[in-house]
Amino acid sequence: MSTDARTGALVLSRASVRDADGLVDILLEDGRISGIAPAGQGMVPPSAEIVDVGGCVVAPAFSEPHLHLDKALLGGPSRGGALDAAIAYTAGRKRDFTHADVEGRAERVLGAALRAGTTAIRAQTEVDPTVGLLSVEVMHDLAARHRDWLDLQIAVFPQEGIRSRPGTLALMHEALQLPGTVVGGCPYTEADVADARAHVDTVLDLAVEFGTLADLHLDLADDATDERFALAEYVARATAARGLHGRVAIGHVTTLGALEPDRRARTLDALAGAGVAVVVLPATDLYLVGRNDRRSVRRGVAPIGELRRHGVRTAVSSNNIRNAFTPTGTADPLDMALLLGRVTFASDPSDFAALHRAVTTDAAGVMGSERARGLAVGAPAELVVLDTHDAESVVVDQPARRLVIARGRIVYTSAVSERFHGTAADHFDAQTAKGFGEARRAEHVHGV
Ligand SMILES: [Zn+2]
Repeated sequence: MSTDARTGALVLSRASVRDADGLVDILLEDGRISGIAPAGQGMVPPSAEIVDVGGCVVAPAFSEPHLHLDKALLGGPSRGGALDAAIAYTAGRKRDFTHADVEGRAERVLGAALRAGTTAIRAQTEVDPTVGLLSVEVMHDLAARHRDWLDLQIAVFPQEGIRSRPGTLALMHEALQLPGTVVGGCPYTEADVADARAHVDTVLDLAVEFGTLADLHLDLADDATDERFALAEYVARATAARGLHGRVAIGHVTTLGALEPDRRARTLDALAGAGVAVVVLPATDLYLVGRNDRRSVRRGVAPIGELRRHGVRTAVSSNNIRNAFTPTGTADPLDMALLLGRVTFASDPSDFAALHRAVTTDAAGVMGSERARGLAVGAPAELVVLDTHDAESVVVDQPARRLVIARGRIVYTSAVSERFHGTAADHFDAQTAKGFGEARRAEHVHGV
């Protein structure tokens, strides 16, 4: 077709994909997946660029629905503390933020995200009278600069509260005028439960007023004795009351696991009914929860398996990268998926498949993105080629990223993989990938 040169059609040939028998060829045109066919049997436009991925897994690119770019790489106090200490430390650091400083740290994380295969990010971005709209403006600039490979959504985030930081609400209004913004929230920073509920109401009212999505930091504590940290059911009912079904996400929610069984079941049903998504942030939650436990230290993450069984939408994300809230992080969603699997007793292939969805299609769904359709004809061509041959073992294998594709074009290639292609190292990698796959299937046959 005469349009091939213009659109730059690309074929990923001999790809392993989930739920397919044998290898497939994937045709990308106009930024979309336009065909998937058994290898060698599909229509290939004459001028298409063909990349033979040699049986490697091709999967949807990752989405991070909860990532703080503005306060990434700040480090923390020499001995880390609890949540309120992390907020206080960061509030002090924010006084020194400059455009260049925020931009520089954010771009370092964006580089890591690209190399990890992430091409969609919701950046939780702080707005308050100290930092003003500085960080929002940086994110707005970065969204434009990196639009060729990144969907950057900005969550306007009042980390220090709305009622407890007068002047914040007016700034939120101003920030929400920008395209690509969603409204964030952080009710637990208010003085009491009445103010925390009012904060929830304000955030959801803004979502209605601006016709956008809402995303609340919620219920991040050891248990629910302080009702400011037990608002999930309230959020669900407030969401339903405003007709915001499917448009609200809550992050953390570590106290869910501590609720009494009746209240817990009621809360999960309310979340499912209102279509409220729970974004689990294991790196932060494991670091901040259970700090005062002297024995039997709590794992401190939302019960993702139970949430799924109740029909609650779930996702997993990095949250913070190397700051007072989380001293670690490489901006790799696969690392987060495996971490969560390890602390939530994941064992079956279905558990790991769900964790893979939680950092790809389900994560995209939280952001209201079409990417939630995944690897399907007509879906956006946002893909990652992974250095493994077993599509079911991606989370367990933690494979290197060979290619990242955004807008139907290659935006990152692994130079190391290229350099070693065809060498002993490459052969060893291929054998390892196959070997692990065989072992898993053999176990499966015998029902072990
Ligand atoms: Zn966060």
